[in-house]
Amino acid sequence: MAYLNENYLKLQAGYLFPEIARRVREFCDANPEAAKRLIRCGIGDVTEPLPRAAIEAMKRAVEELGHRETFRGYGPEQGYEFLRSAIAQHDYCDRNIEIADDEIFVSDGSKCDCGYILDILGDQNKVAVPDPVYPVYVDTNVMAGHSGPARKDGSYDAILYLPCNAENGFVPEPPIEHADLVYLCFPNNPTGAVASREQLSRWVDYAHEHEALLLFDAAYEAYILQPHIPHSIFEIPGARECAVELRSFSKNGGFTGVRCGFTVMPKSLLARTENGRRLPFHPLWQRRWSTKANSVSYPVQRGAEALYSTEGRAEIRVLIDHYMGNARILRVAAEDAGLEVFGGVNAPYLWVKMPNGLTSWQMFDQMLRKLNVVITPGAGFGAQGEGYFRISAFNSRENAEEVARRLRNL
Ligand SMILES: *Cc1c(COP(=O)(O)O)cnc(C)c1O
Repeated sequence: MAYLNENYLKLQAGYLFPEIARRVREFCDANPEAAKRLIRCGIGDVTEPLPRAAIEAMKRAVEELGHRETFRGYGPEQGYEFLRSAIAQHDYCDRNIEIADDEIFVSDGSKCDCGYILDILGDQNKVAVPDPVYPVYVDTNVMAGHSGPARKDGSYDAILYLPCNAENGFVPEPPIEHADLVYLCFPNNPTGAVASREQLSRWVDYAHEHEALLLFDAAYEAYILQPHIPHSIFEIPGARECAVELRSFSKNGGFTGVRCGFTVMPKSLLARTENGRRLPFHPLWQRRWSTKANSVSYPVQRGAEALYSTEGRAEIRVLIDHYMGNARILRVAAEDAGLEVFGGVNAPYLWVKMPNGLTSWQMFDQMLRKLNVVITPGAGFGAQGEGYFRISAFNSRENAEEVARRLRNL
């Protein structure tokens, strides 16, 4: 009999979203009438259809594959040059950030990249994560054996948690303790917080001082509306020596179901061996892709490329404006209901403080029963999330307005 990876047994039972789905199903089965009114503001998935530019590009690409003259088989393992150069140009060079085409690695999404990247990182690394946190950062490290057992509050031994609370504006300051690997996500899921240039500079300083690696998740950069907020960690001097950036077309181009994202791995980023040699990460990442993957399908890469066309960028703008319009409507309604609201200004998430002594799962149940609205309980994102819940602005305008009406009656 084969042995299993016992690290999986350390994982806490209900990964957040399956537990939400279970409670919603139970409620709907017991209350079929209320189920018809149910509005989901829980899971962070987009609701609006894909940009036309991406659809047309994908259709053309599929047609090309149907003719001998234009047929393509395996593509480059790192992604096609046409997409990598579009990314490097528009997301970085146009913003005066120095990133080369061959520092871009196209993938099937950032969630996946969170798991893949652990392939090239040592098991000895001390891992630091914000609390509350996107659960994928933690669970992938638990699966890889980078944590001790789970504690009662759902946190894990040997992982360093960085508390994010109203006092620090949900942006953690670098800790006194040493960490080798630090996950940062701005604009943040779940809190909707953004980090200023000064705050990110302190993290880059910390990384240099501790020779730490920053894994910077910028999945929501397109939602930044205020001009002084950095979109990329590479806007900070010195970041090329200490950071990897994760980006995705899921939340800007609505590619959550299409699947495409990328990592930016600077060639200047070094790591150490157990015996003290200093070597670049880049060749390992390249090797990981060429050995274990064949990138993403050609039509999908053409679809992603089209998001950078003039038409594609205009369509993304419309999508972002739509979701951020929802965020404003929900934010005002929650405030009118007397709730204290964070986020929702440069991010599609509102992070709402609970008005009373309820736990966030009790609040979840109340919102489900009384308003027939599904939210996400803050405790599902970490111990520091207790006392808060997350409302997602990913919805139709009609649903956002209806949720706003119901919130006012809370
Ligand atoms: C949605 C999201 C992503 C994107 O994930 P994909 O796998 O690219 O769809 C990445 N990070 C965070 C924090 C997210 O919420």
